[in-house]
Amino acid sequence: MTRKSHGPAFKKAAIKLAQCPLCRGRAVTEGVFHELPCGHCHASGFVAAATGEALALDELVTQLSMRLRAALRQIEQLKNPQASGPEATYQGSNRRGAGGTNYTGD
Ligand SMILES: [Zn+2]
Repeated sequence: MTRKSHGPAFKKAAIKLAQCPLCRGRAVTEGVFHELPCGHCHASGFVAAATGEALALDELVTQLSMRLRAALRQIEQLKNPQASGPEATYQGSNRRGAGGTNYTGD
């Protein structure tokens, strides 16, 4: 595998995603006989919130990955609540401030 970098971006910025208005986030639209992949959002169900337009495919994959990771992290936190006292609560909020992402979600 050759590593080919497209640009000098060290850190990917999270683009705010919104539900695709055409398929309403379902990624498919009703065809006559079948459900068809939504052509507006690359069948992802998401568009860029700012523009309402689909992201480029490679960008979309990255953004969905970031979103998925954030969601998985949230699930883990919900499954393993660390806060069990005042100290834990303090540490938790401290950690969130320092190491937290700037991901804002919906
Ligand atoms: Zn769509």
